[in-house]
Amino acid sequence: MSNGWEIFAIRYSRLPRKRRENMIFCPPERQDEEMPIDYSFWVLRNEAEVWVVDTGYSTELAAQLGRTFICDPIETLREMGIAPEAVRNVILTHLHYDHAGNLHRFPNARFLLHAAELPFATGWYAKEPTFAFAFNKVHVMQAVELVYDRRVDFVEGDTVVAPGIELYHIPGHSPGHLSVRVHTTRGWVLLAVDAAHFIDNMVERRPYPIYLDLHETLMGYDRLAELCPNPELLIGGHDSSVIERYPSLPGFEGKVAALHLAPGP
Ligand SMILES: [Zn+2]
Repeated sequence: MSNGWEIFAIRYSRLPRKRRENMIFCPPERQDEEMPIDYSFWVLRNEAEVWVVDTGYSTELAAQLGRTFICDPIETLREMGIAPEAVRNVILTHLHYDHAGNLHRFPNARFLLHAAELPFATGWYAKEPTFAFAFNKVHVMQAVELVYDRRVDFVEGDTVVAPGIELYHIPGHSPGHLSVRVHTTRGWVLLAVDAAHFIDNMVERRPYPIYLDLHETLMGYDRLAELCPNPELLIGGHDSSVIERYPSLPGFEGKVAALHLAPGP
């Protein structure tokens, strides 16, 4: 097993939010608290390989949504010395718009995706605005093309994809959602991704308002705790405390956090 994976969270966007927008059944006295949401994707790197976990949303979609990037996801990779053309492995945790853009910018990668996710993004649910609004049609069509180009490897259940990189199927938020556990020098770090947008969703057992199955979402919190008993090793997918608590990659302050290093208080 590789002991040497580094994990970097590239935090490319932030939106202001109230606490009530980030969890269902938020207690009345806390509803108006500021609770910004961050948008990130992740890079796993050791001496031999680079893996990318999710791909952010695209520049074109950011313009459509009127959102300003803190940093462009793909340009930031380049600035870190990682050419997207050289990336061979991309894990797509699910196909929501903020996780599966920019696929065309990894022309030599194969993509790992849970088998249940593409039917969710293209079948019955895709005509229901309640579910479809979290997808971007262009991204989904690109994913379908990649399937026909034989560049998607479907995973089912829990899978070890490389020494020190494990995928766990934790549905609820979406039926094919994958969380990613990575071995680092400080132990196994678990990227919950959207199985826990914020650690507070999990601690208070008040899920983020986008989900397919509430029961499975709650069961997912138990699974995350079982896979990662030490909360210092668990990373919420949109938790704005991550960029504030973890050491920055030098030169990328406020943009790239090193999750393989111990967090601050
Ligand atoms: Zn999502």
